[in-house]
Amino acid sequence: MRKFALAGNPNSGKTTLFNALTGSTAHVGNWPGVTVDKREGVYKRLAEHVAIVDLPGIYSLSPYTPEEVIARNFILEEKPDCVIDIVDATNLERNLYLTTQLLEIDVPVVVALNMCDVVKKNGDRIDAKKLEKELGVPVVAISALKGEGIKELMERSLKAASQGRQGRTVLEGSSLDHVIGDVTIALDGRGVQNPLFHAVKLVEGDELEVKEHPAEVATVKAFQKQSAGDLFGGDFEALVADARYKYITAHFAGAYERAKKKENLSRSDRADRVLTHRIWGIPIFLVILFAMFHLTFGTDFLYLNTITGWFNGGAGFAYDVDTGSEVLNSLVAVFFTADGISTPGAIVFNLMDFITSQIGNGIALGMEALDAAPWAQGLVNEGIWGGVASVLSFVPQILTLFLFISILEDSGYMARVAFILDRAFRKFGLSGRAFIPMIMGFGCSVPAAINTRTLADEKERAMTNRVIPFFTCGAKAPILAAICGAIAAEYTGVSADLLVFALYVFGMAMAVIMVAFMRQTTMRGEVAPFIMELPSYHAPQFHNLMVHLWDKLKHYIKKAFTIILASCIVLWFLQNFSWQWQMVGIEESILHDIGSFVTWLFTPLGFGLQLENGWVFAVAAVVGLIAKENVIAAFYIIAVGFGFAGAEQSEDGIAEVMYLISATGITWQGLIAYTVFNMLTVPCFAAAATVKAETPKGRFRYTVAFWLLTSYVTSCVVYVVLSWWWTAFIVAAVLAAVIALIVLRNKGLIGRKKRLLARN
Ligand code: GDP
Ligand code: MG
Repeated sequence: MRKFALAGNPNSGKTTLFNALTGSTAHVGNWPGVTVDKREGVYKRLAEHVAIVDLPGIYSLSPYTPEEVIARNFILEEKPDCVIDIVDATNLERNLYLTTQLLEIDVPVVVALNMCDVVKKNGDRIDAKKLEKELGVPVVAISALKGEGIKELMERSLKAASQGRQGRTVLEGSSLDHVIGDVTIALDGRGVQNPLFHAVKLVEGDELEVKEHPAEVATVKAFQKQSAGDLFGGDFEALVADARYKYITAHFAGAYERAKKKENLSRSDRADRVLTHRIWGIPIFLVILFAMFHLTFGTDFLYLNTITGWFNGGAGFAYDVDTGSEVLNSLVAVFFTADGISTPGAIVFNLMDFITSQIGNGIALGMEALDAAPWAQGLVNEGIWGGVASVLSFVPQILTLFLFISILEDSGYMARVAFILDRAFRKFGLSGRAFIPMIMGFGCSVPAAINTRTLADEKERAMTNRVIPFFTCGAKAPILAAICGAIAAEYTGVSADLLVFALYVFGMAMAVIMVAFMRQTTMRGEVAPFIMELPSYHAPQFHNLMVHLWDKLKHYIKKAFTIILASCIVLWFLQNFSWQWQMVGIEESILHDIGSFVTWLFTPLGFGLQLENGWVFAVAAVVGLIAKENVIAAFYIIAVGFGFAGAEQSEDGIAEVMYLISATGITWQGLIAYTVFNMLTVPCFAAAATVKAETPKGRFRYTVAFWLLTSYVTSCVVYVVLSWWWTAFIVAAVLAAVIALIVLRNKGLIGRKKRLLARN
């Protein structure tokens, strides 16, 4: 099968084209650095099938960043039959810089002029024919997003692939022409493949080339000496770059005709003046985040009920509507509750709860009608359906949250977030590049951990991998939603959205604090510079959003009916049977014994021996290692063991937690500490395995120790401070002492002297 590679600048639309060609649902994000590894698919709409390889985005073919190395090696070593160079037509000159380098390789190149829909919308014009003549390779105008021009692109690529091509350079006729020519001939004589490409890179002083072809370095050195002073002071790398840009401006730039002086750009700029403001940038980000959580987890839309309550002597609106029919009443309750008008997230949550309850009732009735044995009824109603249903209840709500996150990402705002966070936290040792995988961690830690490959610095990578799980992922979100929902329901004056938001922000703050801490102690080092091109804002693409959500939904459903279902069944048996394999009450069950074994450990965290049946929380946290949603599923199954009548009281996740509060006597402080523990401790096995794979050999155990220690200590502090507010002073004093110690040590005022003494 022929192989075509997609190469181009970050954010030029490679993955969008890849998805359109192969029907995959790879992650498309409106910020650079999303694709970090190559990815393969098949295009089937030509006379023959063609393998398509999506490469990470690059600006150049130098071997400096991991992305460049992957793309360069692929093109040079795996020799695709054609390189489709995706060029963002709205950024023509900058994108063609890479094109001029690709042209130097002996490989067929076809230029795909992408984003032509935007060009048209701006009223600009681009002359593909003219560009084609100047470049000497086929140029096809396309819109990857709208699917325009794709067929033609592929047909022409196939044709180009069957013709082969010899490399050419735009440096012909420049002052470096001679030396490039000499080196090319020398390399060619030694049978080096792609001699022109290697010759140009050698002249640029590319490290890899210099190491590989020492004989030819001499030629370049000699030329450098003889021309020093005249030619950029002998800095040939700059000279080559300059020559490329000059050529692009002289020959290619004319293909783009602007309708008028750029007005659109300044609209992005004006938005950025506010959104990336030095002082207001972060507060605005927090407000946007809060709005997101309000619309997802809030039960009082825009706080209308609360606000009117202020004027009404606390009465608010009255939503008690009695339609006379039970089913209708529960439908009305989807949109209006005693809390107020439901937010979109609350509506989908209530709807899903309604649906899962109906299914649960149906299953229960069916089992009764079948006259099944009591244990079989229990297994099916509770072990199989109930646990899974309590997780499924949250799926629409979590998808709503993802919809908002995807909108922020696709609009281009998330790229700004990395930028403002970089500016704020650079002095603490974090770079904006490291925030990109962290923000991706809101979705799932697994792809986020893989994304850290683009971090060149080993230490930075290790630190980032450790704190990615602190950015609450979609699987942990149900834990927050259920526990915060229950606390809000039990205590007046607390709202679930505010609590969930606070916990998310707490997780992010912990990530920043722990990285800063490691930077000052075990992982000192310079922060890598952060250069990122900010994509211009655009309206989120409906199609992209749906692809994201669909992907997430599939992932959830698959997990619910495999890992979570299996865990539930095992849990159900463990909690209904004794070691002698007799059916018993929960107090004599195997699960009770296993859980009780470790309960004491969690006493300082507020969910240990001080509770009646405190073991249930330890058990739920442990099964959460398999998949974090299991925490909620386990709550359901255990609550049933204590007499929670699932089918009647609805298995919506929140009701179970409320039931467990009364069954164990856990305080709200204990519940918060428990949530924090789950957020910061070892992530699920899938995430842990990925982090392990991305961590140097033998160092993963330190990461595990980091997770265990951080979660235990933080959760303990949270519990103690929330329970006894004055302990905050002690914690503050200890923190101040630790900071002082670190500062003094880093200044060499303590510690080092001792070592000197020891040596004497
Ligand atoms: P990659 O980094 O090169 O893989 O780029 P992506 O495929 O992730 O796309 C980056 C952004 O450009 C996304 O927001 C896409 O929706 C958008 N995009 C890609 N192709 C087109 C296009 O043809 N027209 C428009 N208007 N937007 C596009
Ligand atoms: Mg991509």
